[in-house]
Amino acid sequence: MKVLVVGGGPGGLFFGILLRRARPDVAVHVVEQNPEGASYGWGIGLTDSALDALRPSAPDVVDDLAADIDVTDQMEVGLDGETLRVTASAFSRTGRIQLLATLQRWARAEGVTFAFAQRLEDSAELAGWDLVVGADGVNSRVRDIYADVFKPEISFGNNWFAWYGTSRLFTAPSIIVLRRPEGVAVSHASQYTADRSNFVVELTPRVFRSGGFEHLDEEESRRRCEAMFAGSLEGHPLYTNKSLWFQPKFVRCTGSWSHENVTLLGDALHTVHPSLGSGTRFAMRDAAYLVEALAAAGWDVPRGLRGYEESRRGTAEAFQRAAVRSIGWYEGLQSRPPRDLTTMTLEYIMRTGRVRYEEFRRNNPEMMRAYEELR
Ligand SMILES: Cc1cc2nc3c(=O)[nH]c(=O)nc-3n(C[C@H](O)[C@H](O)[C@H](O)COP(=O)(O)OP(=O)(O)OC[C@H]3O[C@@H](n4cnc5c(N)ncnc54)[C@H](O)[C@@H]3O)c2cc1C
Repeated sequence: MKVLVVGGGPGGLFFGILLRRARPDVAVHVVEQNPEGASYGWGIGLTDSALDALRPSAPDVVDDLAADIDVTDQMEVGLDGETLRVTASAFSRTGRIQLLATLQRWARAEGVTFAFAQRLEDSAELAGWDLVVGADGVNSRVRDIYADVFKPEISFGNNWFAWYGTSRLFTAPSIIVLRRPEGVAVSHASQYTADRSNFVVELTPRVFRSGGFEHLDEEESRRRCEAMFAGSLEGHPLYTNKSLWFQPKFVRCTGSWSHENVTLLGDALHTVHPSLGSGTRFAMRDAAYLVEALAAAGWDVPRGLRGYEESRRGTAEAFQRAAVRSIGWYEGLQSRPPRDLTTMTLEYIMRTGRVRYEEFRRNNPEMMRAYEELR
């Protein structure tokens, strides 16, 4: 059996590792358009519950991903320079480059082969494999080739994002909201190595347009964001790594999840949203479901792919509904700017409906007392 994985992101790599472990006799080949060691972006967060969900599939690999990264259950929410620290989900942080390097090392150790700097373009390249897995991200070429089967619904968020790094160490993951005369600006920041934090800037359309950001190059945008968030950055610079403005693409495949021996996973199949901080886990969980479904079908590929869809689709759609609620909260900041820090913090924590109110209340008695006094 020969398997082609298009895309060497977290989903494709984890799939390769799990498949080779389950079937060491199967050849798994990953085609990745980027050169080895190249990656966009900075740090990513993985909640403890994400790692717990992934761990049973490959405990050694998942422990390795979490090995040298800081875990915290503290988070900070800021509004115009005032901050509130709360106890929330426990979070590990790592660099996207480190995460990919670790997964590549494990994949190589399992015998997965790689072709870097090779972009899959032509549908003819999908012939001759027993199974093709499109793990090629949000702009998936495999999804495009079989668009009539996968039937993707694609929309774009209204807010604009740019992904920076900084040397200011946000030891607790932070959401920083600034009310400006022209609208609301947000940053999502968290430390992920000894000397770096992630700093994702999110601008509502009015702030983006009135600041003329669409006409600025990467360096000028960086300078302007640095100035806008100077109070939180405390004199530290922002750094770029392909930090171009984008509106997140929201992908949902409404058709079948497979065509004969071809399927999709991760962002290629369904995105969540940067604000939910769960896309990496989501893609890696898809990989685990796919391998389990293939095994349960006795490695009959079309049957296994149907089993993958049957077992995964419901959870995936529920997760996407949480993402839509999260997007709505951030986008709603334009028309209903936050009134006060305490209320905004609670609304933020509860925005997806996935955090239990009573549990949050128990862990944050002081903040909740302050909130109830405001009512
Ligand atoms: C600003 C921002 C912040 C984020 N923060 C977090 C976070 O904190 N936590 C979290 O869990 N997630 C986060 N995410 C989401 C996460 O990055 C993605 O959801 C996750 O990487 C999806 O994994 P994937 O393997 O499906 O796709 P990707 O990681 O996109 O990997 C796809 C791979 O396929 C390759 N590829 C694409 N097309 C081709 C082709 N035609 N031929 C060959 N190769 C191809 C690409 O180069 C890429 O390496 C964030 C995303 C953004 C944009």
